[in-house]
Amino acid sequence: MIDSSLKDIAAALRDRKVSAVELATESLARIDAGNARINAFVTVDHDGALTAARAADARLAAGNGGPLTGIPLAHKDVFCTEGVLTTCGSKMLSNFVSPYDAHVVSLLKAAGTVMVGKANMDEFAMGSSNENSHFGPTRNPWNTDKVPGGSSGGSAAAVAARMVPIATGTDTGGSIRQPAALCGITGIKPTYGRVSRYGMIAYASSLDQGGAFGCSAEDCAVLLSAMAGHDPRDSTSLEQGPEDFARECTQVGAQPLAGLRIGLPKEFFAEGMSDDVRAAVEAAIAEYRKLGATTVEVSLPNARLAIPAYYVIAPAEASSNLSRFDGVRYGHRAAEYGDLNDMYCKSRAQGFGGEVKRRILVGTYVLSHGYYDAYYIKAQKLRRLIANDFATAFEQCDVIAGPVSPTVAFGIGEKSDDPVQMYLSDIYTIAVNLAGLPALSHPAGFGAGNLPVGLQLIGNYFGEARLLGTAHQFQLATDWHRQAPAGF
Ligand code: GLN
Repeated sequence: MIDSSLKDIAAALRDRKVSAVELATESLARIDAGNARINAFVTVDHDGALTAARAADARLAAGNGGPLTGIPLAHKDVFCTEGVLTTCGSKMLSNFVSPYDAHVVSLLKAAGTVMVGKANMDEFAMGSSNENSHFGPTRNPWNTDKVPGGSSGGSAAAVAARMVPIATGTDTGGSIRQPAALCGITGIKPTYGRVSRYGMIAYASSLDQGGAFGCSAEDCAVLLSAMAGHDPRDSTSLEQGPEDFARECTQVGAQPLAGLRIGLPKEFFAEGMSDDVRAAVEAAIAEYRKLGATTVEVSLPNARLAIPAYYVIAPAEASSNLSRFDGVRYGHRAAEYGDLNDMYCKSRAQGFGGEVKRRILVGTYVLSHGYYDAYYIKAQKLRRLIANDFATAFEQCDVIAGPVSPTVAFGIGEKSDDPVQMYLSDIYTIAVNLAGLPALSHPAGFGAGNLPVGLQLIGNYFGEARLLGTAHQFQLATDWHRQAPAGF
C-alpha cells in the first residue's frame, strides 16, 4: 500500500480497508529490510511510530481524519523532534535529543502523520551528495554505487525506495530538487518564507527553506499544504494564511496547459548539461508542448554568477549560525581540555567534519574587516542582479523549465575530493534560492546507466499551486513518476 498515491492511501484509511498501524508496520518492515543497503535513516522510531499510528486510527475511527492522518513519513534530520535524536548529520549533535518540535514537525503531528524516523543528510545540510554525513553516505536506491544527491539524500532515497510515501526536506541551494532528480521522485522548494524555519537547524538563514518530497506533484502538494503557513516564531515567515497547493491538480481536457508560457533560459541550454540529461529534458519539454503549453526563450544573464555568489553568502551565514555550537549547553564537548578557550577549540575541532570546517573558514574570511566589501557585499549585489533577471524573465513567461542537475547520479567518492566539482553540480538550482523563488523537480525519464533524470520547473513568487498543477498535468500524461527501483 505504501507505494500507492496519497489519495488512494487516504481513501483506504478512511474506508478502514487498511489501518494506520498496518501502514506503519509496512513502512517499518520496508525500512528494516532495505535500510542496511541505502542508509537512508539515522534513526528509526518503531515505538513512536506505532504509538502515533494508534492515535491516528482512533481519530480515523471517530471520523476526524484529514488527508494526512495515518500517513507514514520521514523527517530530514535537520528538523527538531521532541524526545527523538536530532543530529543534523553531525557528530556535533550525535547526542542531541531535542526538547521541542520544529514548527513543521508540530504541524504534521497535528495533521496526524506518523513519523517513522529521521532521514540521513549531509552534515548541517552542506553538500550535494550526502557523503558529508557523520553517519556515512546514503546510497541511491537505483544503483547503490551512486550518490542519492544531497543534502536531503536520505529523505529522497527513502521515498524512492518506497519506504515512506512522503518526506520532508530543506533546500538552501538545491537540496530538495537535486536529490529528487537523482532519485527519480518529485520534490518542491516553496517561496522563501512559506515554511517556518523555527526548529529547523540553521545553515544559511536567508536561503534555507523547508519543502516536500513525494512520488508525484499531487502528493507533494498535499504535504506542502500542511507544512506551510505563518509562524510568528520565525521572523522571516510570510504573513500568508494556509493554502491548498493541490487546487490546480485537477483533470482537465486534452490540452490542459493551453495558454501556459514556459520560459527556457538560453544559458541553461548552452553547454554544461550531459547529452543524456539534455535528451530527457528536451523530451519532457516536447511533452509539455503536446499538453498545450508554448515555449519562449528567456535569458538569465547573471545566472553564471550564482555559484560564486552563493558560496560566499551561504558560508558567511553558516559561520555565524554555527558559532552556537560551542560545547557549553548542548552538543559534543571534548572529553579533555585545558581552559575554556581550549574547550571551545577542541569541541569544535572534534565535532565538525571537513566540509563544515571549510565553510566556517571561508565564511569567517569573507566577513572579516579587510574582505567584507570585496566578497560579501559584492556577492549581495550579484544576488540582486540574479533576482532581477528572473523578474525580467517572468514578464515573458509563467514558469521556467530546465535541467536540475547537469548529470545523472554520480559515483560515491567520485567528487568528494574536489569541492569545486561538487559545487558545480548545483549550477541549475542555486540561482532560485538566491532569488527566493519556488521550484520543483519531477521525474523526466532516464539517462546513462538507467538512472533517473529530473526536470526543473521554476515559478514566480507564490506560484507553488501553478507549478504543482503544471507538473500534475505532465504526470497524468506520463508515467516516469511511477517507476520505482527494483529490489526494495
Ligand atoms: N549543495 C549546496 C551546498 O552544499 C546546497 C545544499 C542545500 O541546499 N542545503 O550548500
